Amino acid sequence: MRIIVVGAGLSGLMAARECVSHGHEVIVFDKGRGVGGRLATRRIKDATLDHGAQFFTVRSAEFQKNVDDWIAAGVVREWCRGFSEEDGHPRYVGANGMTSIAKHLATGLDVRTSTLVFSLTRAETDWVITTDDGVAHHADRVILTAPIPQSFSLMFGGGIEMPVELRNTDYDRTLGLLVTLDSNNHNVSSPGGMQFPDDVFSFIGDNTAKGISAAPALTFHANPEWSLANFDKTNREIHDDLLEAATPWLGTAHVTSSEMKKWRFAIPKKLWPDACWVDDSGTLAIAGDAFAGPRVEGAALSGLAAARALVA
Ligand SMILES: Cc1cc2nc3c(=O)[nH]c(=O)nc-3n(C[C@H](O)[C@H](O)[C@H](O)COP(=O)(O)OP(=O)(O)OC[C@H]3O[C@@H](n4cnc5c(N)ncnc54)[C@H](O)[C@@H]3O)c2cc1C
Repeated sequence: MRIIVVGAGLSGLMAARECVSHGHEVIVFDKGRGVGGRLATRRIKDATLDHGAQFFTVRSAEFQKNVDDWIAAGVVREWCRGFSEEDGHPRYVGANGMTSIAKHLATGLDVRTSTLVFSLTRAETDWVITTDDGVAHHADRVILTAPIPQSFSLMFGGGIEMPVELRNTDYDRTLGLLVTLDSNNHNVSSPGGMQFPDDVFSFIGDNTAKGISAAPALTFHANPEWSLANFDKTNREIHDDLLEAATPWLGTAHVTSSEMKKWRFAIPKKLWPDACWVDDSGTLAIAGDAFAGPRVEGAALSGLAAARALVA
């Protein structure tokens, strides 16, 4: 079968690999310049900063199997077993940043980045996906892995139904700040991650302590309440407010560069009860972290579930 996957985040890449392993022909489209979606790593001169997901945990045997393979391939390693105190559960990171995982999974796949899918329609015997270069691609099966509101707009345009409760999936937003520094004399303590350190931030990550950055670099994520309250300010105002809130954590280090990042669809607030959604014809599936868990592991398991549902 010819299968099209929309989205080269973790969910889409896991789905694509599973379909390929069953002998199908798969194309993955992503509107982003690179693969990974919310597994996002940014390079600023000698610094490397994760600016989406910061680390991940493993709760299921199925995901552990994948993670063990990634560790063996040198793509993932353990960062720590807890932040303010150890709890015994490994926190894993991509060896060169979280996008390492996506790049590894994309190897050997037909992934077309910088390609926005703007319509999905049902043809007589298959699906037609039109991309922003005006090309119409036919597929026997389609897997949508964008955040739900984005998948919904594709389906709505093509007159394809999505259950109302799924369509209403809402996401927390995240406003983030990436800061490079002239030294590591900041106040982010070992092992380099602080969860809910104050009223503004939900996480502060020290990318050097985490082992991905050659130069001193911190990632700040504002909590959902702060992010919602400030989301519509101008980019300059958000940047300046975040930098001011970050100042107590910078110690005597000096900022050499700072960038703001907005995530409109950061973390789903409510989960769909199944690991994916499949239409009545059994040829269209929706997957992502709104299904099997609002985190890296959930995205991976949902992608696998969608692929299996369509190709079984
Ligand atoms: C700031 C932040 C911090 C986080 N921290 C953690 C953490 O510490 N631990 C953890 O486990 N999880 C964390 N998460 C959540 C985790 O990143 C996600 O659960 C996971 O990466 C989602 O993967 P996905 O494949 O479902 O979606 P995505 O990664 O969002 O992938 C969807 C892809 O679809 C593409 N796309 C959308 N519309 C179209 C279109 N029309 N055409 C083509 N392509 C399209 C997008 O470009 C994107 O690449 C965090 C998320 C954010 C944003």
